[in-house]
Amino acid sequence: MPRWVLHLDLDSFFASAEQLTRPTLRGRPVLVGGLGPRGIVAGASGEAKGHGARSAMPMGQARRLSPHAVALPPRTALYRVLSDRFFGVVRAWAPVLEQIAYDETFAEPEALADADADDVAAFAERLRAEVREVTGLAVSVGAGSGKQVAKIASGRAKPDGVHVVPQGGERALLDPLPVRALWGIGPVAEQTLHRAGVETVAALAALEPGEVTALLGAAVGTGLHRLARGIDDRALVERGEAKQVSAETTFDEDLSDLGAVRTAVAELAEGAHRRLVSSHRAARTVSVKIRSASFGTTSRAETHADATTDLATLTDTAQRLAVAALPDAGVRLVGVSFSGLTTAVQEALFPGAPAAPAAPAPVADLPETEPEPRREWRTGDDVAHPEHGHGWVQGAGHGRVTVRFETASTGPGRAITFRADDPALTGAAAHPPPAAPPHPRPRAGPPAPRPRRGSPARPRAAGAAAAPGPARRRPPRPRARRRTAPAATASRRR
Ligand SMILES: [Mg+2]
Repeated sequence: MPRWVLHLDLDSFFASAEQLTRPTLRGRPVLVGGLGPRGIVAGASGEAKGHGARSAMPMGQARRLSPHAVALPPRTALYRVLSDRFFGVVRAWAPVLEQIAYDETFAEPEALADADADDVAAFAERLRAEVREVTGLAVSVGAGSGKQVAKIASGRAKPDGVHVVPQGGERALLDPLPVRALWGIGPVAEQTLHRAGVETVAALAALEPGEVTALLGAAVGTGLHRLARGIDDRALVERGEAKQVSAETTFDEDLSDLGAVRTAVAELAEGAHRRLVSSHRAARTVSVKIRSASFGTTSRAETHADATTDLATLTDTAQRLAVAALPDAGVRLVGVSFSGLTTAVQEALFPGAPAAPAAPAPVADLPETEPEPRREWRTGDDVAHPEHGHGWVQGAGHGRVTVRFETASTGPGRAITFRADDPALTGAAAHPPPAAPPHPRPRAGPPAPRPRRGSPARPRAAGAAAAPGPARRRPPRPRARRRTAPAATASRRR
C-alpha cells in the first residue's frame, strides 16, 4: 500500500504576514529581520528573493541587493497567531503531524492511504485553499513516499503550488541532486563525500553499503544510504515544543583519536544546529555526553550569557567540553545537545531589535488615563490613533513620524505625518486579520472532507461540490504550465 507524506511550508512566512496585515507592502520587496548594523534577514518576500535576498543573509547585503525593499523588525506575536491558525487547519485535515517550525510541518493524512498521485494533488489543493482562506497566506505542498522526498518536493512546489512525486519516482527526483540536499548531510559530511569523489545523490546511492559506512560512520551512513536510494520509512514524530535539540551517535568502533572525536562533535553540533535554526530558536546551553568503551558516561555543560544561533560558537563550546570529558579508554558514543532555548525571535535572532510594543492602550474606553506619548518611534512599530485607527510606522526621525493607517481588512491606507510627540499616537499590539474569513463559505460537512478508503478524494468530492470555495472564485489556470519534464513527476502551480 503506498504511503503518502506531505510537507507543508508557508511561502515566505514572515514577509507574507507583513504584506497581509500591511496592504501597502503587497507586491513590494519586504525584508524582515534585525535592522541594526549586524542584523540578519529572518524572512524575505518573493519580490525581495527575486533580487537575490535570502533569509540568514546580513541585512545590509540584502538591502544592497534589493535597495527598494521595506525592511521591518519581526513581529513574533503576529506570526504566532497566524501559525496557530495554519496548524488549526492542517490538523483538521491530517491529525498526524510532525511540526518542524512555525510555518512548516509534515503530515501523513489517513485519507490518502490508498490514493494515487492525482488524488494526492487534489487533496493538497483543497487543503491549500482552506489554509489561504483561514490565514490569508499561501502554503506550498510537497508530497511523496517519505519525509525526504516530500520536503524536496515542497521546494519544487514554491511559490504557491503543489508538487507530487509519484510512488517509484523517488530516484528520478533525488539522483541529480547534490549530496548536500539529503537530510542529515551538512558541510562536514559533504566535504567527506566530495573528497571521495561523491558529488550527487546518485553517486552516493551507487556506493556499496560498506563504503558509505566507512566514509560517514555506521550510525549515520546506513540511514543516509537508504535515503539516497529513495527508501525513507521514517515515521512522523509528533512533538511538542522541544526543550532541547540534540544529536548523538554510537560508533561502530570506539574512537581513540582526539581528531576523530572533534570531527564527530562538529558533525553532531551541525545536526542539532540545523534543528535549532529551523525551529527559529537560539540556545544558551551546550551539553556534551561521552560514553566510554567501558560504558561509563560523562556529561558536561556550559551556559552562555546570551542565547545564540552561531554554529561556530556552539561547535567550539561542544568541542571544548568533549575534550574535557574524554575517557582514558576509547569513545563509544558522543552526544551534543543545545538547551536553554529562547523562542522569542527578537531576543534570539535579532539582538538589538526593538522589543514588542505593549498591549494596545484602551484609548477610547479610558480617556482619563491617557498613556504617555511615545517620543521615539521606529519603523515597523504598530500604532493606534483615536481618529485614524490602527497603523504602522513607515518612517521616523527629526521629531516627525509617518504612519500608514491600514490593516489586513482595510486595503492600502493613507500615510500621515505627525509630530513624534503627538499625544494622540500610541503604541499598539500587532493587528492580525479577523479570525473568520471575510466571506465564509458554507460547509456541507466537516472541514476536511475525508474520502472513504478505496474511493480516494477527487476535487469535486463531498464538501467541494457544495461550496463555492476560493478555487471557484478564481479563474481556472491554464494547464499549459503543468510540467511535462520527468514523466514520473506531476507538478501543479498556481
Ligand atoms: Mg516557509
